[in-house]
Amino acid sequence: MYIDIKPLWTTIKNNIIEKISTLNKTITLAAVTLKPDDATQNYLKNQEKLAKKLGINYSVYEAINRNQLFSILRELSSDNNVHGIFVTHPLPGIEEMEAVNMISPEKDVEGRHPYNMGMLMYGSEFFAPCTAEAVVKILEDITKLSGANVVVVGRSTTVGKPLAIMLLRRDRSATVTVCHTRTRNLQQITRNADIVIAAAGKINLITSDMVKENSIVVDVGINVTDNGIVGDVNPEVSEKALVTPVPGGVGRITTIILMEHVVKAAEKLKLT
Ligand code: NAD
Repeated sequence: MYIDIKPLWTTIKNNIIEKISTLNKTITLAAVTLKPDDATQNYLKNQEKLAKKLGINYSVYEAINRNQLFSILRELSSDNNVHGIFVTHPLPGIEEMEAVNMISPEKDVEGRHPYNMGMLMYGSEFFAPCTAEAVVKILEDITKLSGANVVVVGRSTTVGKPLAIMLLRRDRSATVTVCHTRTRNLQQITRNADIVIAAAGKINLITSDMVKENSIVVDVGINVTDNGIVGDVNPEVSEKALVTPVPGGVGRITTIILMEHVVKAAEKLKLT
């Protein structure tokens, strides 16, 4: 069966709208990009649509080279009218950490700055990486994590690693195994899991024989095919386990969480 993400999305959206109405000021999200490809442009358009729907002011800054990118990030960081900064990735020819280091941690709504990443280690999730937070929120909405045997497939800085740290937090206390390209016998590991999180970016990585009956499978993968976007989980898995859909699953919650972070940033910055 597929998990219906809409109720959680609606709850977060309503929460955002309520907060914005009490804040009573214009909230601004700045998206910064460098040579965006078609997928990035499409993503920015969707982000803009959602921001508009919520009443968040949204502007895109397109840099033409590395120096300009860094100076835009610095300027936006010190601009009192900007509350959140989003940088598209990957950035051609630029290390991610170099770029995120230019953003003020207080406006780092994607939770990628080393300060916010470091705070995760202490259990503080003011700005957690949005996709990892989306997975945690989806799981907390439908199950108890304490003691659950959770397998995370993927160890990236964006998803797998922060997610593992968040699942270990004492109030969640999942038992976490992280798998990656060098993991031996992936199937043996995932078959024992109560929850499998697929964040590898590999079509059909998780098949039905790899999961336990009635387990939960969260599909983070986004793979572009001729027939549209698909995840890392083979559709047949939904006959055996509860699965998040792609598209319209983790990605949908990730984008609304980004907007929630912008509102949190505006509340904290208390700028005019
Ligand atoms: P990444 O390429 O940085 O990391 C992929 C990880 O998966 C690596 O750690 C690698 O070791 C592991 N991996 C790859 N193939 C594997 C295999 N065959 N067996 C076991 N492990 C394997 O990617 P990422 O940025 O973490 O993103 C992962 C996927 O999630 C991509 O499809 C990406 O598009 C998607 N994504 C989705 C969202 C969302 O909002 N839904 C957000 C970010 C990324």
